[in-house]
Amino acid sequence: MKNGFILAVDQGTTSTRSIVFSSDFSAKGIDQQEFPQQFPRSGWVEHNPEDLWRTTVETARGAIANAGLTAAEIAALGITNQRETTVVWDRRTGKAIHNAIVWQDRRTAEACDRLRREGAAELISTRSGLLIDAYFSASKIAWILDNVAGARAAADAGHLAFGTVDSWLVYRLTGGRKHVTDITNACRTMLCDIATGQWDEDLLQCFNIPRSLLPEILDNVDTFGVTERSILGAEIPIRGVAGDQHASLIGQACFEPGMMKATYGTGCFALLNTGTERITSKNRLLTTIGYKIGPEITYALEGSIFVAGAAIQWLRDGLGIISDAGQSADLAAKADAQQQIYLVPAFTGLGAPWWDPSARASLFGMTRNSGPAELARAALDSICLQTYDLMHAMKGDWPEASLSLLRVDGGVSKNDWAMQRLANIVGVGVQRAQSAESTALGAAWLAGYGAGCWPEPSRFAAEWVAGESFSPSTDTEWNRALVKGWEAAVRATIQFAAHA
Ligand code: ADP
Repeated sequence: MKNGFILAVDQGTTSTRSIVFSSDFSAKGIDQQEFPQQFPRSGWVEHNPEDLWRTTVETARGAIANAGLTAAEIAALGITNQRETTVVWDRRTGKAIHNAIVWQDRRTAEACDRLRREGAAELISTRSGLLIDAYFSASKIAWILDNVAGARAAADAGHLAFGTVDSWLVYRLTGGRKHVTDITNACRTMLCDIATGQWDEDLLQCFNIPRSLLPEILDNVDTFGVTERSILGAEIPIRGVAGDQHASLIGQACFEPGMMKATYGTGCFALLNTGTERITSKNRLLTTIGYKIGPEITYALEGSIFVAGAAIQWLRDGLGIISDAGQSADLAAKADAQQQIYLVPAFTGLGAPWWDPSARASLFGMTRNSGPAELARAALDSICLQTYDLMHAMKGDWPEASLSLLRVDGGVSKNDWAMQRLANIVGVGVQRAQSAESTALGAAWLAGYGAGCWPEPSRFAAEWVAGESFSPSTDTEWNRALVKGWEAAVRATIQFAAHA
C-alpha cells in the first residue's frame, strides 16, 4: 500500500526542481538542476525542450533517491511549470521542431501591435481575460508555424502538436500516449475561453492556429496518464498539474474568495481568489482561472510586477552596496527616517497596473546625506509599494472583497524587515508560508488529493502551517504620506518616458 509519498516536479524558468513530499506535507527529498538560457537575438529567449525534459527526468530520479525511496513507493506525480512558454513538436518523431519560446520573449510584440490595430483587443480580453501581449503563447505558436520551414503544411496535415511545458513533459512521461494540458496553463495561451475552460474558435482564427495542434484540456486534479516504467523505474500516475502561480495559490491554501498570495522572486506575481465570480478588471489586471478542482471553475485576478527581488540584485550586482540579498534588511534598518527616497524600479518597464514598457527606473528625493542605507530602504520599499498598487487595483475591481490578509512566498519573503514594512504599507497582515516550496507543495497537493491519499481542500487548509506573521502598524498618517510620495514618483517616471 502506498503511504502518501508524492513527487512534485517544478519546471521553472531557470531551473527544474523535483521534490518528494510526505503525507505531512514536508519535503523528504529534493533535487534541482539549472539549464542554459538561450538569447539568439535581442529580446528573444529560448530553452531547448530536451533540456527541460532531461532535467525533469534527472531531478525526479534524484529526488526519489534523496528521499531514500524507490519509484514504486511514490503514490502520484504532480507537475507545475513556467507558464506561457511554447513548445511545438512533431507527433511522428516526438521531437520539437523549434526551441521552446520562453514567456519573456518579445519577438512577437509587433504581431501583437498589429492585432491591436486591427481591433482584436476587445474580443481577446473578453474571451481570454488577458491583454494582448507577446508574453502569452498564441503569438509564439503562430511565429513557429510561420517561420519554421514546412511547419504550416505539417500542421495542416495534423502532424504537429503544441503544448505549454506541462503538456510537453506529460507527453514525454507517458511515452507519447497523452497530449493534454490543465485548465490554468490553457488559460494563459490566449486561446482559451475562460467562461467555459475550452479552446475558442474565434481566438484560434485570430491567431491563425489550427485546432488540431491543441491538447485536450483537463482539470487541475485529473487523470493525466501514467509514466512509462523505463523513465523513473515504475509506473506513476500523473494526477495533478497547474501553472506555477496557480500552484502556489493552492500551495498557500488560498481556497476561499478574498484570499490572496504574492510570490516574490525576480518579479512578483499576486493572485486574488475571486471564487466563481469572473471579475473583469477596470484597472488593467488580468482575469485568470485560479484552478478547477471539482465541478466549478474558481477565478482569480492577477497582477504582476516585473522587478521585485531583481531590485535587490541591482543593489548587490549593479551598485555593489551589499554582498548578499539578506544584507539589504540590516542596511535598510539603518536608513535615516527623516529622508524618504523613492526608487521606481522600472528597469524593464512598468508592469501592472501601469503597463508602460517604455518607462525606465528613476530615483527621487536624494540629498547629500543619502547613501547606501537609504537606497537599500528605497529598493525594499519599492517592492512593498508596487504591491500596494496591485492591491489598490484589486480593491477597485472588486470592492466587496475584504482583503484582510496577504500570504507571501519566494526569495524576498525571507526578509523580515521587508515583510514588516509590507504589512505597514499595504495595511493588512502579512503571513509567510512555513514551507519555502509553496509552488511544488501546490502541485503535490493536487496529485495527492487526486490519488486519494492527501486531504480535501478544507482539511488541507486547516492543516496548512503558516510561518511568521507580520501585523500592520497603526500609523496610517505615515502610510498615507509615503504612498502619496510614491504615486508622484511613478507619475513623474511615466511622464519622463513619454518625453524621452
Ligand atoms: P526566482 O525563482 O525568480 O529566481 P526566488 O524565489 O529564488 O526567485 O528568489 C530570488 C530573488 O529573491 C532574488 O532576486 C533575490 O535578490 C531575492 N532575495 C533573496 N533573499 C532575499 C532577502 N533576504 N531579502 C531580499 N531579497 C531577497
